[in-house]
Amino acid sequence: RQVREQEEEARKRLSQIKYKLVILSGKGGVGKSFVTANLAAALAAKGFQVGVLDADVHGPSIPKMFGLHGQAIYAGPGGLLPLVGVGGVRVVSADLMLPDEETALIWRGPMKTGFIREVLSMVAWGPLDFLLVDLPPGTGDEPLTIAQLIKDLSGAIVVTTPNDLTRIVVKKAITFCKQLKVPLLGVVNNMSHFTCPVCGTKHYIFGQGGATRLAEETGVRVLAEIPIDPRIGESVDNGVPFVLAYPDTETAKSLMSLADKV
Ligand code: ADP
Repeated sequence: RQVREQEEEARKRLSQIKYKLVILSGKGGVGKSFVTANLAAALAAKGFQVGVLDADVHGPSIPKMFGLHGQAIYAGPGGLLPLVGVGGVRVVSADLMLPDEETALIWRGPMKTGFIREVLSMVAWGPLDFLLVDLPPGTGDEPLTIAQLIKDLSGAIVVTTPNDLTRIVVKKAITFCKQLKVPLLGVVNNMSHFTCPVCGTKHYIFGQGGATRLAEETGVRVLAEIPIDPRIGESVDNGVPFVLAYPDTETAKSLMSLADKV
């Protein structure tokens, strides 16, 4: 019964948000959190009110990208108050609710789902145009359950890399979206290539053309090709979203144009 009440409360709160998007990936380490954070920062830079729910409780990295690591979320009169990160994005993450930095999150599946449900029922996002939900990697039960908690989803985005961009990943994503009954907006091909800063030659380190071929075969759109930029680590360490720290780079520009497509 408590679960029902939480779901009801979560639904009420989420109904005030215009667009709710989930970001998923076939596996970990493809840059899902990086893309989520920078898509959020790009949308905020275009004048939208944006929130990010870091539901990837395995390795919460979103707060760090917004300069919020080590801070904590507190309760206000209307619920838990998201922290406002660099660029004006409102962020909620398990990382902002831990008693201390060293606490390891060793949660079993049901606990994780329970945590997200509880959080969604308690957060006072305020008026938002976009809520981006960074789901745990994979397209199995856990991300599915979390995504199902969020009613009336507007769409899903799949982040992959050229070497992960197999037919299997996209097929699974299509199945995932069918189960959720949400439109698959498309695929983001992260780390697509590296452009040599000296000669300008594009190096397709992880392979080339896979995304286009896949799109042709499956009918799924490729929303963006995001090149590798070695300065990303630096922007994370400085706690400034990459699109704001290095707006003139090819990587930032492709992330900004992704924001026009969601
Ligand atoms: P995921 O959320 O899929 O596990 P992350 O967003 O944490 O992946 O990214 C994994 C690592 O790759 C991070 O260290 C991140 O800074 C780096 N990374 C992501 N995208 C790029 C890119 N386009 N160029 C260079 N490094 C990247």
